[in-house]
Amino acid sequence: SFLERSGVAPARVAALRSEAEALYLGTRPKTRAAAGAAAHLLQGVPMHWMVDWSTPVPLVVSEATGARLTDIDGHGYDDFCLGDTAALFGHGPAPVAEAISRQAHRGLATMLPSPDAAAVGDLLNARFGLPYWQIATTATDANRFALRAARAITGRPRILIFDGAYHGAVDETFVSISANGRVANRAGLLGEPRDLTLLTRVVPFNDLDAVETALADNTIACVITEPVMTNCAMVLPQPGFHEGLREITRRHGTLLLIDETHTLSTGPGGYTRAHGLEPDLFVVGKAIAGGIPAAVWGMSNEAAIRLLQAREAAPAGHSGMGTTLSGSPLQLAALRATLEQVATDHAYAHMEALAKHLKAGLAGAINEVGLPWHVARCGARVEVVRAPAPLRDGGQSRAVNFAALEATIHLALLVRGVLISPFHDMMLTSPATTQAQVDNLIAATRDVLQRLTA
Ligand code: PMP
Repeated sequence: SFLERSGVAPARVAALRSEAEALYLGTRPKTRAAAGAAAHLLQGVPMHWMVDWSTPVPLVVSEATGARLTDIDGHGYDDFCLGDTAALFGHGPAPVAEAISRQAHRGLATMLPSPDAAAVGDLLNARFGLPYWQIATTATDANRFALRAARAITGRPRILIFDGAYHGAVDETFVSISANGRVANRAGLLGEPRDLTLLTRVVPFNDLDAVETALADNTIACVITEPVMTNCAMVLPQPGFHEGLREITRRHGTLLLIDETHTLSTGPGGYTRAHGLEPDLFVVGKAIAGGIPAAVWGMSNEAAIRLLQAREAAPAGHSGMGTTLSGSPLQLAALRATLEQVATDHAYAHMEALAKHLKAGLAGAINEVGLPWHVARCGARVEVVRAPAPLRDGGQSRAVNFAALEATIHLALLVRGVLISPFHDMMLTSPATTQAQVDNLIAATRDVLQRLTA
C-alpha cells in the first residue's frame, strides 16, 4: 500500500494538500490574476515545465537576488531550488552582473572571439583538467555535440546510457527500462516516431556486468553518465563503479562522457576533479556562466586529435555542432567572471558546510517522526530519498516516486516560505545562502513531516 511504501497515510497527504492550497490561493490575489492574464502563452507560461510545479497556479517571481525570491504578491522565499542548479552560485552574482552589463555596451553577439576567449579556455583547462574546450548555449546542446563528436571519433553508431538518467532534451537519451525489463522509448516523450533503442543501449547504474555485456560487440561510441545520478532522486556510485566503468570503456575503445551539469555542486572542479575521474569528453552547463545561458564541453588530447582528423577527412559542410549564439562575447564575459570570481574555493567551502548542516537537520527531522527515508548529498546538493537505504539504480528510484506526496510537501514548504526543486526533493546551498535560511528549511520540513505523521 501507499502507506507501507511511503510511510505516510494518503488521507494525511490530502489534508495537508488542501490546507496548503487554500493558504496559497487565499494570500496571493495578484498571482491568481496573473495566471488568468497570460492568455497568449501556451498553458499560460513561457515554458510548459512551469505548470508542473506543485502550485495550483504558477508563482510569479518579481525579484530573485542571492538566495531569496519575492513573488508579485510580496511574499519572500528562501530559495533552495536555485533555478534547478542554474543559480547554484546565487541569483545574479555581482561579478557576473557587472561583467554582463559591461559587455552589453561592447557587443553581445558577433560570432567572433572576444578578448575573454583565451582566458576562458585557460580557466576551464586549469579547473577541470581537460585540454580542449568548446562553448555551447545549453547543457542539452553540449551533450548533443559531444555525442556527435564521439561518433565521429570512433566511427561507431551506438551510445550507452544509464536507466533513469537525464541529460537534457537529447533525443537519443530518451530510452529507459520498464518494470518488466523491456527497453523502450521513455514514457511521456512526444513526437518521436523512431525506435530510439536501435542506437541507444540502456543498463542500470552501478551494474558493471551489464556495462560489460552492452559494450561487448564494440559498436558503442560513447557511454554518457552523470558521476552521481541526480535526476532520479539521488543515486550515488558504489565503491569501484567509476574505476570499473573507465576500465571497461577503455578496453572496448568506447569513449566516456561525464556530464557534470548537476554534480558541479561537488566542488570547484566538479566530481571529476574531486574523485580523479578520467573522462574523454566532459560537459557542464546551467550554472557555469552564473545563470547566463552557456555550457561548455571539453575533450582529452587524444579525443581532440581524432576529432580534427575526422573533420579533415570529411567533405566541407555543416558539422552538426555549434549554434549561432554559442561562444558569444556575452557568454565569455559571464563564464570568465564566474570562473574567476564566483565559483571559488572559498564559495564552495561555504556551500559544503551549509549542505552538511542541512543534511544533518533533515535527517534529524525524518528520524523524529520515524519515516523510512534518508538524506543523500553530493557537495552542495542535498536530496531527501523516500527509501531507508541508498538507491542503487534508476529502477529503485522509480519505485519510491510518490508524486502526490512529493507535490504536497513542496507546496506545504512553499507556503512556509521555502522553495525547493519541483523535481523530487532536491535542495541546493549557494554562496549567498545563510545558516538562518538553512535552519528555516529544517524547521519548515520538521513541521510538514509532523503534520504528515502525527
Ligand atoms: N545534464 C544534466 C545532468 C541535467 O540535469 C540537465 C538538466 N536538468 C541537462 C544536462 C540539460 O540542461 P539544460 O536543460 O540546461 O539544457
